[in-house]
Order: sequence, then structure tokens, then C-alpha cells
Amino acid sequence: MTTTRLLSATAVAEAAALLRGGALVAFPTETVYGLGADATNGRAVAAVFAAKGRPRFNPLICHYAEAEAAFADAAPDERARALAERFWPGPLTMVLPRRPESRVDLLTGAGLDSLAVRVPAHPLALALLRAAGVPVAAPSANPSGAVSPTTAAHVLEGLGGRIAAVLDGGACPVGVESTVLDLTGARPALLRPGGVPAEAVEALLGPLDRATAPGGEAPRGPGMLASHYAPALPLRLGATAAEADEALLGFGPVPTGTTLAWNLSETRDLAEAASRLFAGLRWLDTEGARLGLRGIAAMAVPEAGLGAAVNDRLARAAAPRR
Ligand code: AMP
Ligand code: MG
Repeated sequence: MTTTRLLSATAVAEAAALLRGGALVAFPTETVYGLGADATNGRAVAAVFAAKGRPRFNPLICHYAEAEAAFADAAPDERARALAERFWPGPLTMVLPRRPESRVDLLTGAGLDSLAVRVPAHPLALALLRAAGVPVAAPSANPSGAVSPTTAAHVLEGLGGRIAAVLDGGACPVGVESTVLDLTGARPALLRPGGVPAEAVEALLGPLDRATAPGGEAPRGPGMLASHYAPALPLRLGATAAEADEALLGFGPVPTGTTLAWNLSETRDLAEAASRLFAGLRWLDTEGARLGLRGIAAMAVPEAGLGAAVNDRLARAAAPRR
């Protein structure tokens, strides 16, 4: 057990020094908080898997302050350059061929010959990445399978005592993880819906392969396990109202007389819904258990834009546990 330090936004240099020294530092991005490690340091990367309690070595996303630094480790084609131009910094991760000369430790990419890279759009993340001067491997900063953290307090709840520090940047504005796009094949494939709507990528690249139906084929990564992002209370999807013994995850107008409700967006705004999703699941889980409720009923969210990412996370949160 170590004491996890809560660092204020002014302590970027200190956080960077910890990272360079091989320690684990959670930091805010526009999507969720990441659990950062120096991606070139195999021991630090191994410590990420240990801290999260990840059952096996799934590939991690490597974070950079600049596209050119990312492309020094992973080889872009024209599609990747166009996407970087349009969406970076931002919530888009590209899986590209790993350059053999890259210093990124093989464990970061779980030994694959591809590497997932991203330039996040959060001022504190960018400042930290610049100050660290190394690629930073970072999965979401939560114990494996649990709900992703969108505040520093969430990180401490899940990983306090197991990591060196959390850099506090307040709440994450997007609130769901990055869109993961596989560009190693002839046809781009959507591995995970996320902060950049698939439609926006398709406007640039044409149709994507979508192989990510929850509970579908074998998982290619952690965000693709059927059960993930899971609260302790069981989740019921497509509800129009909550039963007496259920909490309600609302979207749009919420039926009156609900015992416990968290509204993703009263005005049916999908970006607001994404940003409030994980905090809502956590809150309903804690408060629902305290009130002796038996489950969480989730109202339907349209499958467009960021709604696809919200529905993907809800489907996984509702999937049978293993
Ligand atoms: P997370 O651990 O929440 O940051 O999720 C990482 C995501 O990146 C997972 O959904 C993986 O599928 C994906 N990913 C990372 N690296 C690779 C890779 N080399 N090939 C395919 N998917 C990857
Ligand atoms: Mg995760």
C-alpha cells in the first residue's frame, strides 16, 4: 500500500517527474481519467496491469502531445494523417503498424505488431505529456471491469493506495472513452465507439467495418469484453420507467414518482448524456444500494452520434458478469 497523492493542476512538473521515474500517475483527459505509465518502461507498464487487476495483458493506448511523436512510434498512412489533421488533439485512437525501431515497450501493445496511439485534447494532459517527454501508456484509471472514472475522486475510490498520484483536472468534459479505429487493414474498422462519432469518421474515410456489437465476437481488447464498465447493481436496458425497487438512469423527461433518478440529459442532448454517464452509474450504484434498491433501469438513448458510445457502454454494463 502506498499513499496516493492528490496533485493540483499546478503540479504538472511533479507528476511528470513521477512518470519519468517509473511511477503510476492518473491524469485527466477529455474522455476519462487515464492511469499513466512511461510506455518505454516495461516495469512501469506491468505495474499498470497489476494496479488495475487486469486478468491478462490487453494492449494499452499510447498518449502523445503531438501527432508527429505518435507517428514516430506507429506508422501512419494517408488515412491516418488525414484523421490526425481533422480529429487530433481529440478522442480518437488509431491502431497502426508499430515501427520496429519504436522504444515503446512491447508489453504496452501486448506484444502485437500494432500500436494504438492518441493525442488527447485536455490542456492538463497535454502539459503533462510535454513535461514527461515520453510516450505515456494509459488505460482508464479504474480497477478492471469497473465503471470508468471521470473525476479525481473516482480514481481515488478505485485505485487509492495502489498508485503514486492523481493529477486533479476536475470533471472530464466528454465522459466516454475514445473512439478506437483499426487502420492496419485495407478497410478501416471501428473497434470501439467513443468520443468521436463514427459518422464523423465515415464522412472522411467512407464506410467503416463495425465488428463491435457487444457480446459479439471474441474480444480484441479490454473495452471489448462483454462485461465491462459494470456497476454492482444489475442494469436493465430499454426501460421506460423504474419499478418500485429500481433506480432510474433517465434520458429526456423522467416519469414522476421515481425513487431515485439520475438524468443523463433532460433536453436529450447526447454530448451531455455521454459526459454524465459514468458519474451517474456510480451515483445510482452507491445511493441505490444505500436505499436497498435491487437494480438500475436505463431509459433508451438514440443510437446516433455520441449515443452509440453511450449505448455500447450501457450494453457492456448490463452484460452477464464473468
Ligand atoms: P482502455 O484500456 O479502456 O484504454 O481501452 C483500450 C482500447 O484500445 C481497447 O478497446 C483495445 O481494443 C484498443 N487497443 C489498444 N491497442 C490495440 C491494438 N494494438 N490493437 C487493437 N486494439 C487495441
Ligand atoms: Mg477501461
